[in-house]
Amino acid sequence: MSRIYNFSAGPSMLPLEVLERAQKEMTEYPGAGMSVMEMSHRSKDYQAIIDSAEALVRELMHVPDNYKVLFLQGGGSSQFAMIPMNLAVKNKKADYVITGQWAKKAAAEAERYITVNRVASSADKTFSYIPCLDKSTFSSDADYFYICYNNTIYGTRFTELPDTGDVPLVADISSCIMAEEIDVSKFGLLFAGAQKNLGPAGVTLVIVREDLIGDVLDGTPTMFNYQTHADNGSMYNTPPTYAIYVLKLVLEWVKENGGVGALQKINEKKAAILYDYLDSSELFRGTVDKADRSLMNAPFVTGSDDLDAKFVKEAKEAGFVNLKGHRTVGGMRASMYNAMPTEGVEKLVEFMKKFEAENK
Ligand SMILES: *Cc1c(COP(=O)(O)O)cnc(C)c1O
Repeated sequence: MSRIYNFSAGPSMLPLEVLERAQKEMTEYPGAGMSVMEMSHRSKDYQAIIDSAEALVRELMHVPDNYKVLFLQGGGSSQFAMIPMNLAVKNKKADYVITGQWAKKAAAEAERYITVNRVASSADKTFSYIPCLDKSTFSSDADYFYICYNNTIYGTRFTELPDTGDVPLVADISSCIMAEEIDVSKFGLLFAGAQKNLGPAGVTLVIVREDLIGDVLDGTPTMFNYQTHADNGSMYNTPPTYAIYVLKLVLEWVKENGGVGALQKINEKKAAILYDYLDSSELFRGTVDKADRSLMNAPFVTGSDDLDAKFVKEAKEAGFVNLKGHRTVGGMRASMYNAMPTEGVEKLVEFMKKFEAENK
């Protein structure tokens, strides 16, 4: 069996070159005589790997010097608690924009510790758009303002950042990190679970402005304190060593492919190929307001559950897998992260055209 086109929302495709490099170094990392999996995290070889991963994050995302780059565990979901515990120490209050399940979960988790003000929501139309934000609804005394930048499940993304003044902006960029240029300096904190666009599951990247860390809410576990990890180069305890190594290989691949800006151009092209077809198709249609369409996750439907199921099944047989929409929304969803080649999207659209002709 050869490799197929995997449109999974996450864990998702990794570049073949990265997998092959990991394979080559699987049993014997150059110069170490052992696998990265077998290395002490305190060894010189491993230190070089994690240092290089951090340096590549800083270089590729132009991270300013006054930000910490942390490699943590517990997935994106642990950040839903870590953020209020570390950032809401002054007024114990934060603003949240509810653009889907991940933002909803983040707000509900924060509410266990602090006061949450939900400034806007697009729940009224199944999160198919990014709500307009009215500054007069923002809390002037919020400790931070939270958005989910790209909504993996519903396929929307922010194209304009809220103007939060002095209130630090926090964004979940799990499904769009390094897919498009993001100006880190506009944020207090950014985080991403790696398994969408950066590497294997098991490591979560956090980029946080130095002045925002140090104080925590009473009772915050040591492991949930950003300062713990900042003080110890993300090695207070054993980090997810192999996941960080593969992440480093992915970042090298991003660099070799021209960096984030170059990948953004490719991602815009890939998304346009699919959206242009959806807009011209008489069978399929996109479910999201055009202005808010994600570059990474494109949900679409035929309008018939039976036809949707038939499409997912036939697509799978043709080598396009994981196109079933999220269980909460149904229909289809194509996730086109950095590792998905343009050719994969072109071939998917060809297949959709064929399916449309056969099912008129
Ligand atoms: C997948 C995802 C999460 C959850 O990540 P876990 O690592 O599974 O906890 C959070 N936010 C967004 C935007 C996601 O896509």
